[in-house]
Amino acid sequence: MPDLAPVRIIPLGGLGEIGMNCMVVESGKSRILVDCGLMFPNAEQALGVEVITPDFSYLQKAGRLDAVLLTHGHEDHVGALPYLLREFPQTPVYGTRFTLAVVKEKLAEHGIGASFNEVVPHRRAEVGEHLEFEPLQVPHSIPDAVGYALSTDAGLVVHTGDFKIDWSPVDGKLLDVRRFAELGEQGVACLLSDSTNAEREGTTPSEREVGESLVRICAGVRGRIVMAMFASNVHRVQSALRAAVAQNRKVVTLGRSMETNVRLALDLGYLQFPPDLFVDPEAAAHFPPRDLLILCTGAQGEPRSALARLALGEHPTVQLEPGDLVILSSSVIPGNERALANLIDHLVRRGCQVLSATSSAQLLHTSGHACQGEQRMMIDLIRPRTFVPIHGEYRMLAAHARLAEQAGARPLVAEDGDAVELRANEAASLRTQAVSVGRRYLDARGALADVGEVALRDRQLLAETGMLVCLCVLDHKSGEVVRGPELLGKGVAGLDESRLSRARQLSLEALAELSPAQRTDHGLVEEALRRGVRSAWSKSLEKRPMVMPVVIEM
Ligand SMILES: [Zn+2]
Repeated sequence: MPDLAPVRIIPLGGLGEIGMNCMVVESGKSRILVDCGLMFPNAEQALGVEVITPDFSYLQKAGRLDAVLLTHGHEDHVGALPYLLREFPQTPVYGTRFTLAVVKEKLAEHGIGASFNEVVPHRRAEVGEHLEFEPLQVPHSIPDAVGYALSTDAGLVVHTGDFKIDWSPVDGKLLDVRRFAELGEQGVACLLSDSTNAEREGTTPSEREVGESLVRICAGVRGRIVMAMFASNVHRVQSALRAAVAQNRKVVTLGRSMETNVRLALDLGYLQFPPDLFVDPEAAAHFPPRDLLILCTGAQGEPRSALARLALGEHPTVQLEPGDLVILSSSVIPGNERALANLIDHLVRRGCQVLSATSSAQLLHTSGHACQGEQRMMIDLIRPRTFVPIHGEYRMLAAHARLAEQAGARPLVAEDGDAVELRANEAASLRTQAVSVGRRYLDARGALADVGEVALRDRQLLAETGMLVCLCVLDHKSGEVVRGPELLGKGVAGLDESRLSRARQLSLEALAELSPAQRTDHGLVEEALRRGVRSAWSKSLEKRPMVMPVVIEM
């Protein structure tokens, strides 16, 4: 038997952070990506970054990509696809019905086409010569989520995608326990499993319990009911519709992403409800408050969301008033607490009662991710030779690895850019920093405008210190100063006339130290001006501004 190259599993994103999940799997001559997600910025947002995607340079260098397999339609799993397909336009994209519906909508917004291939649990398919895959049904907070069993040169690799083990899912689609167990029986070389909730003991409550809780909360409310949630959680939307039907209320959807997701789910027949349940927002004003349930996004305090407009009284046809109940059916993503608190203030100011996961003892939300109890069960079902925790920040990966060790598996903790190498019937090995990885900071959705790390650092510096432009005109023969230096500051602290004249003086002195020959060298002149101006700010006490010298020769 010829010596086969090892199968390589290389995360480009999602291992060491929450978001931008993106995993390369290479077997023989076949190379695929599992998921291609983006990440929303936190601190970088203030610097004009709207979207962060993985850097695909490794794939560019490798020069070939046979397929992208998608596990589900969340942004952190599919959001970077438009950017990938611009670089690899012909790559076939595989996903389940709902996932592809979400992706087609997104790609159409970007004006990008792709070759789509619908997958169905249990149905195996081939990619390239050395890879076969089989989708595995898993419950998650979006319909049609799957994991994948990959048949590689080194044996079976199981990727769970995002999952929880919900024994009473709203759509009735259970984790395919039997198939996972069968794979375990066959022998799995490597299990890659979702670590998001690896720090949480116990199990994640069922989505159905949240639905029942929402129905109970809505009973007896006299005013309007507003439910804010992630638009892609169609299970939760279904529960909200049940609550509306139980109370004889009509449903209004507000916000583009909620309207889109409800439309997709309706088209695919993924929502059950009686006829005439939905009414247009324009018609909402004709119904008494007691007859309305409003479904919207904005539970994270997003400033441009439908809920934010309601809170500020800026919606043209729906005005909230005392007696209305607002339910935030979602957890708060770290970093959004302040924005959400401001939003709740506005709602309370309008006289609304607000229920949120942090303030209410009732079950308003449940995670879509497995806690330790379910993670342990997955490991016990699969009993892999090697275990690699995926999807999470480092401490979550480490916690999941500890859990696997207790279960008798051999864990390897990999981060973005590391390569897990597998050979048939051998222990896996880890090559750290095997490929160079990074992030792309994009400043507008749709446009591929990579801000770059250097530009981001400059923006950070500008925000902290402001900027001074130092303009100086020199004689091109003698190098003598003809005019200037003139200083123009923006956002600089302590910029009064005495400081400005001192900065001018010090920059002239720095220029005077240069010989006539040196003064014909632009680089040296700029450096002298920068040094001179900056020394007008004492080194120890104050932040020195960024100085941009502009030298003109006459
Ligand atoms: Zn997800």
